[in-house]
Amino acid sequence: MAEETVGIIGAGIVGLAIGREITLRRPGTRVVVFEKEDRVAVHQTGHNSGVVHAGIYYTPGSLKAELCTRGAAMIREYCRERELPFDECGKLVVAVTPQDVERMDALAARAGDNHVPGLRRVGPEEIREIEPHCTGLAALHSPRTAITDYVRITESFGDDVVGAGGEIRLSFPVTRITEVTGGIEVASGDEAVRVDRLIICAGIQSDLVAGLAGDDPGPRIVPFRGEYMLIRPEKADLIRGLIYPVPDPRYPFLGVHFTRRVDGTVDVGPNAVLAFAREGYRLSDVSVSDLVQMARWTGTWKMAARHWRTGVKEMRGSLSKKAFMKSARNYVAEIGPEDVHPGGAGVRAQALDRDGTLVEDFRIHRLGRITAVRNAPSPAATSSMAIAEYVLDTIDGKRGG
Ligand SMILES: Cc1cc2nc3c(=O)[nH]c(=O)nc-3n(C[C@H](O)[C@H](O)[C@H](O)COP(=O)(O)OP(=O)(O)OC[C@H]3O[C@@H](n4cnc5c(N)ncnc54)[C@H](O)[C@@H]3O)c2cc1C
Repeated sequence: MAEETVGIIGAGIVGLAIGREITLRRPGTRVVVFEKEDRVAVHQTGHNSGVVHAGIYYTPGSLKAELCTRGAAMIREYCRERELPFDECGKLVVAVTPQDVERMDALAARAGDNHVPGLRRVGPEEIREIEPHCTGLAALHSPRTAITDYVRITESFGDDVVGAGGEIRLSFPVTRITEVTGGIEVASGDEAVRVDRLIICAGIQSDLVAGLAGDDPGPRIVPFRGEYMLIRPEKADLIRGLIYPVPDPRYPFLGVHFTRRVDGTVDVGPNAVLAFAREGYRLSDVSVSDLVQMARWTGTWKMAARHWRTGVKEMRGSLSKKAFMKSARNYVAEIGPEDVHPGGAGVRAQALDRDGTLVEDFRIHRLGRITAVRNAPSPAATSSMAIAEYVLDTIDGKRGG
C-alpha cells in the first residue's frame, strides 16, 4: 500500500486504531479519516463501560477470543507508554443461583481455552475478601480485567495519525461512495475526496455506509441502548472493582454490572433496550427512517418473536429504577434504587442476520478496494489495536476476510 491514500470512515476507536496502524506499518501511506461529528469518539467509543476485557466470554477460536486477548495486552502497553489511565482493578463474575453456578463453570472452561490470565474460581468467603459488600454462591475472579478511558485513548490514536502526516476530516458525513478508475471517491454533499482504498468503521451506521459502497444489506445493525445508573458518592466506596453477573448465553450482552470508572465514580448498567433510533440515547428518541429500516429486515421480526419476553423485561427496567436495580441487588444488596440516579447511556451497534440471529463475532470483510467492519460490538474497544492489525493483514492477503 506504499504511497497510497487510504480513507477511513469513522473516527471511533476502531477507525483511529486502524489509521494509526497504517501509519506504523506503511510509512508514506497517507491516511484520511472522515467523521460526521465535530469531534472523535462521539458514539459507542464515548459511551461505554470503559472495561478492558480479559477474554473470558468468547467462543474459543473466534475472532473475539483472539483479538480481545491480544488487544487487551496492546491497550495495556499503549496506556503505559502514553501515561493514559489504566487500572487493573479486577473483576468478579458472580453466580447467585445453582443454575448460574453451572453456567459459570462452563464459562470457566471457555476462559481456560482462551488463556485468560490469572482467572480463578472462588467461594463465598473469598468473594467477600475481594468485594466486601458482594454476595454469591461462587465467582470467577479475573485479576487482570482493567478499566481505562477509551475517549482519551482514541484522541491519542488521532494525535498519532495526525502526527504521522494523516488527516481527520471532522464534520464530514459521508453520503456517497463511488468506485472510479483505480480508486474510490468519498463524498459529503458536493465535496469529494479521492482515495486508493477505503475502510469502513462506521459503528452503528456501518450497514448503511457499507450499502453506499454496494455491499450487502445484511447483517443489519439494530441499536440496543444501554442505560447506566450512577451510584451516589457515599455508596460508591462499597464497590472496589467490577462485579458482573453470569451472562445469559442466549445474548451477546454481559448483563447489568457494577463498574468502577477511572474517575472514581461507580455505576450500574448497562441494560439492553431495543432503541427506536440508531443514535437514540434517550427513550424518547425516535427515528422514523431507522424504524422503517428495522421493520423491513426480516431478521428483526424473527428476533422479536424469539426474545420479546426479555425485551419487555429490559423495557420495564428502563422505566423503573426499582426494576433496573432488581438483578443488581442479588449481588450487592446494600445498593438500592434510592442510592442511584440516572447516568449516561450508550447505543450498541449489534449486527443482526436475516434469520434473526444476533451476530456474536466480529465481522470484517473485503470488497475489492473496500474493507468493511460490519460488526464490532464489545469487546471491540478492548480489541481495537488487534482489530487494526487484523484488518491490515486482511488487506495484505495474510488473513481471511
Ligand atoms: C453501552 C456500551 C458499553 C460497552 N462497554 C464496553 C467495554 O466495557 N469494553 C469494550 O471493549 N467495549 C465496550 N463496548 C463496545 C465498544 O464501545 C465498541 O465496540 C467500540 O467503541 C466500537 O468502536 P467503533 O469505532 O467501531 O464505533 P463508534 O465508536 O461508534 O465509531 C463509529 C464512528 O463512525 C462515524 N460515522 C458513522 N457514519 C458515518 C458517516 N456516514 N460518515 C462519517 N462518519 C460516520 C460515527 O460518527 C462514529 O464516530 C460497549 C459499547 C456500549 C454501547
